[in-house]
Amino acid sequence: MDEFDLIALYFKRDTDHQQVTLGVGDDCALITVPPDCELAFSIDTLLPDVHFFSDSPPRVIAERAFRVAISDLAAMGAEPLCCTLALSLPNVDHPWLGEFSEGLHESAARFACPLVGGDTVRGPLSISLQMQGTVPKGKALKRSGAKVGDEVYVSGVLGDGAAALAVLSDAMADNSKTRPYFFTRYYQPQPQLALGQALRGLASAAIDISDGLAGDLGHICRASGVGAVLDVSALPISLSAQSRADIAQQRQWALYGGDDYELCFTVPQSKRDQLAQVAQTLALHVTPIGRIVEGAGLVDAASGEPLSLGGYNHFNQDDSL
Ligand code: ADP
Ligand code: MG
Repeated sequence: MDEFDLIALYFKRDTDHQQVTLGVGDDCALITVPPDCELAFSIDTLLPDVHFFSDSPPRVIAERAFRVAISDLAAMGAEPLCCTLALSLPNVDHPWLGEFSEGLHESAARFACPLVGGDTVRGPLSISLQMQGTVPKGKALKRSGAKVGDEVYVSGVLGDGAAALAVLSDAMADNSKTRPYFFTRYYQPQPQLALGQALRGLASAAIDISDGLAGDLGHICRASGVGAVLDVSALPISLSAQSRADIAQQRQWALYGGDDYELCFTVPQSKRDQLAQVAQTLALHVTPIGRIVEGAGLVDAASGEPLSLGGYNHFNQDDSL
């Protein structure tokens, strides 16, 4: 089997997506971009033992890769259009590829974001997914629009990503009751696509929480030239995370843990009711956790002290690649 057979077997699929004129098999895919829309695209690379456990089931590796990558479209308020996959494989492992590609196509179908092309090479395992989406011209949610007086919100709960990593890394916790919950939270984070789209024209700024709330809200503050006061006691934490650690650890997870893929966004106070309506319609929890103020960085509402922006940074310890 050569590279082309492999692509045909595992990655070429017919799609009835209306905007896909030509998918896998030519030098480029051809996509129709709707009029009056901007193309939103972003790429994420996942590496074994950095972004997933190398012995994880291949199906859930694919699901995690897909959901992590598409979360950036949610953060911009974009609608998924299609994706491409750059895959580096150490060898041709058919059972692995079969499960991996099934997980990928299943996610593509779920989020209406078909795989239309890619690249396949031999090398250390590496998975890069580029996501493409569309957003009405001028309506994308950027990091840079937060204004003094806006309220800061997060969707869902925070800290599960970090708690999951702790639980799944701990062989001792194998039989714990919360393990299935955290397995799902880790491998199937929920990209908040519907919320992102509903926040167009409503949120002044938005980001998806991949590196921890403090760091990611810090990005909104820096891009917007503002600061934020954060009510740490208001951070929404799942009952499962609450059952696994003391309050200090829970808050550490929520603020600095990352991997939650919830949205953090700012909304003018005048649109508070409109936001409540959106949350109700989508049956989603959104929690006010602070407000935008003049200045820079984050301040703890309780103590008035600055909060570290922390956050995960691949180059924190070592500046070399
Ligand atoms: P080229 O040499 O023109 O870049 P390739 O030989 O790399 O093309 O790929 C052949 C076709 O298969 C192209 O349409 C490419 O987009 C697609 N493709 C390659 N690898 C993948 C993959 N992992 N997933 C999806 N499509 C792929
Ligand atoms: Mg070519």
